[in-house]
Amino acid sequence: MSKRVIVVGAGLGGLSTALRLSDLGYKVQILEKNDTPGGRLNILEKDGYTFDMGPSFFSMSYEFKELFSSVNEDVPFQIQELDPLYTVYLSGKEKPYQIYKNLAKLAEEFKSVEPNFEAKAIKYLKGAASIFHDTEYRIIKRNFNSILQYLISMSKVPKKHLPKMFRTFWAELERHFESEDVKIIFSLVAFFLGATPFNTPSVYGLLNYTELQHDGYWNVKGGMYEIVKGMLPLLEKRGVKITYNSEVKQINNLNGRISSVIDQNGKEWLADLFVINSDAASFRGKYLDRKKYSEKKLDAMEWTLSPFTIYLGVKGKIDGISHHNYFLGDNFKQYADTIFRTSVTPEKPYYYVNVASKSNLNSAPQGCENLFILCPVPDLRVKKDWSDSEALAAGIIDDLGKRVGYDIAANIETKIIMNPIDWQDKFNLYRGSGLGLAHGLKQIGAFRPSNKDEIFGNLYYVGASTHPGTGLPIVVIGSKLVTERISNEHAII
Ligand SMILES: Cc1cc2nc3c(=O)[nH]c(=O)nc-3n(C[C@H](O)[C@H](O)[C@H](O)COP(=O)(O)OP(=O)(O)OC[C@H]3O[C@@H](n4cnc5c(N)ncnc54)[C@H](O)[C@@H]3O)c2cc1C
Repeated sequence: MSKRVIVVGAGLGGLSTALRLSDLGYKVQILEKNDTPGGRLNILEKDGYTFDMGPSFFSMSYEFKELFSSVNEDVPFQIQELDPLYTVYLSGKEKPYQIYKNLAKLAEEFKSVEPNFEAKAIKYLKGAASIFHDTEYRIIKRNFNSILQYLISMSKVPKKHLPKMFRTFWAELERHFESEDVKIIFSLVAFFLGATPFNTPSVYGLLNYTELQHDGYWNVKGGMYEIVKGMLPLLEKRGVKITYNSEVKQINNLNGRISSVIDQNGKEWLADLFVINSDAASFRGKYLDRKKYSEKKLDAMEWTLSPFTIYLGVKGKIDGISHHNYFLGDNFKQYADTIFRTSVTPEKPYYYVNVASKSNLNSAPQGCENLFILCPVPDLRVKKDWSDSEALAAGIIDDLGKRVGYDIAANIETKIIMNPIDWQDKFNLYRGSGLGLAHGLKQIGAFRPSNKDEIFGNLYYVGASTHPGTGLPIVVIGSKLVTERISNEHAII
């Protein structure tokens, strides 16, 4: 007999789980707080411009292929590889660095600052590759039922990686490279985990392997939201219903099982199984009253940085900028050490710029550019007041204009700003943390909030703050893991 599943949240985690479960014959209903699907993978449309709201590229593209092939479908969107991967503008340098996957080409970029770069990079990436492959199936792509099981699995990871658990990302880079520029650029991936290279363990050097050697970076033809648009008909075909403007506000239990959820409109939704795609840590605290996830405990956890995002429609073509760009200052360590712990508006912020109109002409009117600017900032525990948002945005736009030699401020046709309060309120992101719980050693594997509830046998979780973690391909892996659990524990007979 088919079983009814309610998925709370239509983020990528919720949509992917719904797709997999409905394909197995479960009857799936999604409840989504907002009026569009996708969660952080969303779009904004204004004055003829279409902006990707959050993610602008991804690694491990094969995880999307796995998702669709597991339900016997072709990938319903076209992916395109980034080459170069990205461009880095360091303050005070005449020329930006182009970051290529091809190490010989990359060596040319660094030839004046890092002699013998290619050999050094090959050696560094060999270590990073072996961590990736030694942990992929032992730690990332599997479920854990207990801390003991996790520790046993960890003990099977070759001992040679042990020092990298206790060394920082930066310290590991210092063992391999001399140039500050190379170290800074290689360490940018640490910010994807929501931390800085100075407090992230060097095991995450594996991300340098994923970007530079393994599968590189990809985006989607026509914009990232094509992922969501492509998934909707596949869900519909399998009978999945999505109800929008339906924020779950209460969760009811009866005889040791979750029996229903109640949404903002007071409507009660009954089902046999429930999958929460809202933040797996804060949801447990807010709606299940779990002491381990009280506000005090949540505040003491490590959270990824908050996004401060600016969406600009700009008249004219900006030649001095590429598709994916990082703009960094000249005080990297000091900036990384202090910025995320202070409530003061950063004077010279570091930021990322994605110019979608370089590859997706439809994202902006003809002859115009579509700019997405992402500046990582402290979360709402640290900086509560964002009344300075306009001033912060103006400072970034001014800096960007000077660095690419184009008067952006004078040519703005449209502008949207989202500060950490907006991100928090829109998607229920705890204290506005952009990527959810951070990935320090105390918050991964069995130490991360599990995808299976501790008390209720019919309650599960998927998404950035549960196992295995954040980022588009990782959330897709999470949907596979939770589906495996559900189909094992609540098989359709
Ligand atoms: C600015 C930004 C840039 C990013 N860039 C990248 C990138 O380039 N590449 C990459 O791989 N990753 C990137 N990420 C991370 C990536 O977006 C996330 O890891 C991923 O989208 C998380 O998906 P999810 O399903 O876990 O959560 P979400 O996308 O947050 O989905 C959860 C959904 O649940 C809904 N919801 C919450 N509470 C309730 C409730 N009570 N009732 C009903 N619905 C509810 C929310 O509205 C939301 O739609 C970025 C994130 C941000 C914020």
